[in-house]
Amino acid sequence: MKLGLGRDATLSYRRSMDVPPVLLTEDEIQGRVAELAREIDETYADAGGLVLIGVLKGSFIFLSDLARKLTIPHRIEFIAVSSYGAKESETADPVRLIMDVRHAIDDEHVLLVEDIVDTGHTLAYLKRLFGAHDPASVKTCTLLHKPDRTEQEVDLDFLGFTIPDVWVVGYGLDYAERYRTLPYIGELPPEMR
Ligand code: 5GP
Repeated sequence: MKLGLGRDATLSYRRSMDVPPVLLTEDEIQGRVAELAREIDETYADAGGLVLIGVLKGSFIFLSDLARKLTIPHRIEFIAVSSYGAKESETADPVRLIMDVRHAIDDEHVLLVEDIVDTGHTLAYLKRLFGAHDPASVKTCTLLHKPDRTEQEVDLDFLGFTIPDVWVVGYGLDYAERYRTLPYIGELPPEMR
């Protein structure tokens, strides 16, 4: 009988060993998300309602924690975007919408919820796009921001953490669809990519 691990078992063992070093602990994240929810509650206390628009896939865990901590009335929409490659982006907008909101947002207060702002192109594009729908207001909320990577300035109305220029995973963020469900945010070193 052949002993030793089969290919799948080997891969899953290897994966279980791939634990990226911690950049932000679960407690730090949960504490900051609670503070953000309080700031948002205060800002929109008299608004009569808020539409949270989560950008898939990376914001899905952040949005679900944030939304459950809000006390103001709100509804939730999801959108998805994709980025063009560097060559195409020279002529076209580097971002495009591939899934739109289900219900109109005209006259509503809109909060765009992102996992991370890197170059700023995605959030700047989304702010322009949703600003053109005649909402009552459009603000932005991002858990993470890498200021060293900024190519396009965009107002970050609610910001969780400023981080250095490293590739982060966990709490919704992935690398090749892995690590999204880590409870903390880890820094993925180049040798783990
Ligand atoms: P931007 O348009 O600001 O350059 O890019 C924003 C998107 O890039 C994020 O929504 C996310 O999908 C991706 N991104 C940028 N930096 C990171 C990172 O460190 N980790 C992960 N997982 N995604 C990132």
